[in-house]
Amino acid sequence: MDRRDFLKKAAAGAVAAGIAATGAGAAGLREPLPGCGRQGYDTPGPGDRRQGRFAIGFEPYELRMRHTFTVSGYSRTTTPDVQLRIWYDGFTGYGEASMPQYLGQTTESVMAFLRKVDLGRFPSPFLLEDILSYVDGLSDGDTAAKAAVDIALHDLVGKLLGAPWYRIWGLDPQKAPCTSFTIGIDTPEVVREKTLECAGRFKVLKAKVGVPDDRKLISTIREVTDLPLVVDANQGWTDRQAALDEIFWLKEMGVLMVEQPMPAARLDDNAWISERSPIPVFADEAVQRLADIPGIKGAYNGINIKLMKCTGMREAWKMLNYARAEGMKVMLGCMTETSCAVSAAAQLSPAVDFADLDGHLLISNDIFNGVKVVEGRLSLGDAPGIGIVPE
Ligand SMILES: [Mg+2]
Repeated sequence: MDRRDFLKKAAAGAVAAGIAATGAGAAGLREPLPGCGRQGYDTPGPGDRRQGRFAIGFEPYELRMRHTFTVSGYSRTTTPDVQLRIWYDGFTGYGEASMPQYLGQTTESVMAFLRKVDLGRFPSPFLLEDILSYVDGLSDGDTAAKAAVDIALHDLVGKLLGAPWYRIWGLDPQKAPCTSFTIGIDTPEVVREKTLECAGRFKVLKAKVGVPDDRKLISTIREVTDLPLVVDANQGWTDRQAALDEIFWLKEMGVLMVEQPMPAARLDDNAWISERSPIPVFADEAVQRLADIPGIKGAYNGINIKLMKCTGMREAWKMLNYARAEGMKVMLGCMTETSCAVSAAAQLSPAVDFADLDGHLLISNDIFNGVKVVEGRLSLGDAPGIGIVPE
């Protein structure tokens, strides 16, 4: 199928599904996503995927990084991603699955999962609990693919209600926190340059530690700015006493908190550090989903919630409330994503202690307008649903 056939078929599908062909809601039908190669059009178009009163369409979309991104272990310049749309009653809900390598999910696995989803068995998108339980039950993993469905349904429901999700959840957008911006591991010259570049735009910077020379990285950042820092060890420390010594040094350097000091499997060592650390210690790799929280309770001071690992906004909201009930702190993280998934996560941000929602700022081919960073703070608009419009 070539591009023209795809568009024709997509438009025919929209009409067949009773979808209005005007307004922003139909933009996804008329315009293919920029950057989708032919491969994107070989997948079933929305016309092939009419499901009861719903229609569903998805295709791969490769995210291009502005700069080569290096963390403990590997570097990358692109991230595989799948863009999803769900149509219902003239409205379009947008969703996204982003699959950085370490997540263990691929474009193929996400596409295969999405092909299994049949929304036609549900009368309306308002049955989020039922629909998402069904979606979760389709496989054991596939958290990013499930998140794509969850985000698109939340976008739809918010649009049908005419309200953004922070409002539906009863959150005050004025309480949205500053987001940190990550300074990747690089040569001192590049680190200095990047820090200078973003020190004016952000109020909190994030650095990756747990790698050789991380003190040099922190010191280089400190030569340029005294902005507060947060750090992520990505399980990189192997000796708990050395890790704790490092954390005390980092505190002296103006670091507010640390993520995942030691490997997730070493629960006792992480707990030992959390007990003694002068700054809060957050679990990231050690907690993916709601059901993981009881197992790490007491071993960390907080958790890092990411939509791509927890299956989306609904479970993220449950995790947030569960963690709060246990007296834990909460931060929100993201993958490299477009403004779609980042804006979805940002809906929760007024309720968290730290936000690390810079994924959309790291790519050069975003396709949505969504949450903005204004003077370092996340700025949530009035747009309904997850608060995005296609560019
Ligand atoms: Mg992390």
